[in-house]
Amino acid sequence: MVQTLRLLLGDQLSPRMASLRDLDPARDVVMLAEVAAEATYVRHHKKKIAFVFAAMRAFADELSEQGVTVRYVQLDDPLNTGSLGTEIARAVSELKPAELVLTEPGEHRLAAEMESWEATLGIPVEVREDSRFICSHAAFRAWAKERKQLRMEYFYREMRRCAGVLLDGEEPAGGRWNYDSENRKPADADLFMPKPPHFAPDAHTREVLDLVATRFADHVGDLEPFWFAVTHAQAEEALRHFLVNALPSFGDYQDAMLSGEPFLYHSVISMYLNAGLLDARDICRRAEAEYRAGRVSLNNAEGFIRQILGWREFVRGVYWLRGPDYLHENALGATRNLPWFYWSGETEMACLKAAIGQTKREAYAHHIQRLMVTGNFAMLAGVDPYQVHEWYLAVYADAYEWVEAPNTIGMSQFADGGVVGSKPYASSGAYIDRMSDYCGSCVYDVKAKAGPKACPFNYLYWDFLARNRDKLEGNPRMAPMFKTLERMSDERRAEIADDARKFLEALQ
Ligand SMILES: Cc1cc2nc3c(=O)[nH]c(=O)nc-3n(C[C@H](O)[C@H](O)[C@H](O)COP(=O)(O)OP(=O)(O)OC[C@H]3O[C@@H](n4cnc5c(N)ncnc54)[C@H](O)[C@@H]3O)c2cc1C
Ligand code: SF4
Repeated sequence: MVQTLRLLLGDQLSPRMASLRDLDPARDVVMLAEVAAEATYVRHHKKKIAFVFAAMRAFADELSEQGVTVRYVQLDDPLNTGSLGTEIARAVSELKPAELVLTEPGEHRLAAEMESWEATLGIPVEVREDSRFICSHAAFRAWAKERKQLRMEYFYREMRRCAGVLLDGEEPAGGRWNYDSENRKPADADLFMPKPPHFAPDAHTREVLDLVATRFADHVGDLEPFWFAVTHAQAEEALRHFLVNALPSFGDYQDAMLSGEPFLYHSVISMYLNAGLLDARDICRRAEAEYRAGRVSLNNAEGFIRQILGWREFVRGVYWLRGPDYLHENALGATRNLPWFYWSGETEMACLKAAIGQTKREAYAHHIQRLMVTGNFAMLAGVDPYQVHEWYLAVYADAYEWVEAPNTIGMSQFADGGVVGSKPYASSGAYIDRMSDYCGSCVYDVKAKAGPKACPFNYLYWDFLARNRDKLEGNPRMAPMFKTLERMSDERRAEIADDARKFLEALQ
């Protein structure tokens, strides 16, 4: 008789999952299921689906090799009923376990569905908190309760103290908590720029690739070449490669963008970390060790650790704190449809073409491309934030709602009115020109402010401010921009509105 059925979701591929804590291999069954409902509720990138299924199969093999009984349901199993709820019901009726144990999922939709399982399955269902995160739900709620505004920087300091990372006694290493001001360098082409390691698909992954090619042919993105790590050992190799080769320059070039260099000095580990192939505490400790050993300077180590200990934990806290309605926030009342070129990549704007093109190829873009190119453009153009959210959730291999939604709805679209960021991340073409080499090859002129050849970011930026004046003018951090807008002549303001209208009409 099966004592406990333990469910692992596709992003819970860690032996340290709370649901495996008291696993008894003699009496328990661990279940993983590839289900169509999860692969299609948005049209996920083909590489993302292949990564998740291949990593699930690899982890199931690891568990089996350790003597654990695994019930693995493949997508093409003729008996597969297509959803998690029905697959769990089928397993319960066949195995008759005394109880079901699982770790909370990473999104409200599934969490709500799971609430009904105890009643429908007729056995006790224990949902455990996800202990992979450093900040618990209760700790984040307690921290947020005491504040009028949630600011990542202060949260991050608490996390540093709580995790004991980069501290000299009670004080931050080097005397400052944040070295971001040293991290704004544009990058030059460099033949020796480290590339993330590529892993040739083994026979199991090949089977998954064939399955995805057949079943998800109409989903976005290139399936091949497929080079992601799918096992813990491979993900560990990717992390080690980053710590040695790219971390020493990570912070310096964190905000840079360069044609033909999709990864620069970024770690390219988010998909592994979010799926459970890597562990956040371990990554931070090892980045600190590189600094302590003198191999990485403090601005680079701190800049990297801040992303994981600060931003990653912070956005997760915001996601669960704000509840399911957060997805539908639209503080700026933006209603335009997402331009089709977000899916096709067919645009003459070189920066967008590069960011979307590599997204389609690799299911990856680094943070500044997501924030200051695709995100910035969507916000300036007044695109409905929910549609923007669906796009980000679909196209990136690391996208799960708990981390994607606050980054999109909050940080990039300012649709939460200032919960994640204190002001909109809006910029004209000048920022993109400063941080990249895209503008040199663009049909638009980044220096031109008006007319058909002017960079669209330039007039869209001022049009965005003018359109949203009533909602943003009171924000003290926006005051200098509104002062500049104020000083413009009526003719100049009319010209901006006219250029923006023509451009946005043509976009539809
Ligand atoms: C609109 C938008 C959508 C995003 N959607 C996602 C998403 O779906 N999944 C996701 O993991 N990240 C998301 N991010 C955050 C960030 O862009 C990615 O984590 C990062 O680009 C992943 O690449 P990397 O592993 O090379 O990261 P690096 O630049 O090397 O950073 C190291 C790690 O820090 C963490 N990190 C960095 N920035 C953030 C952040 N803002 N929020 C949370 N974690 C962060 C990631 O785990 C990342 O692997 C989004 C950002 C924006 C602006
Ligand atoms: S000119 Fe404008 S549209 Fe073209 S690459 Fe530069 S910022 Fe992008």
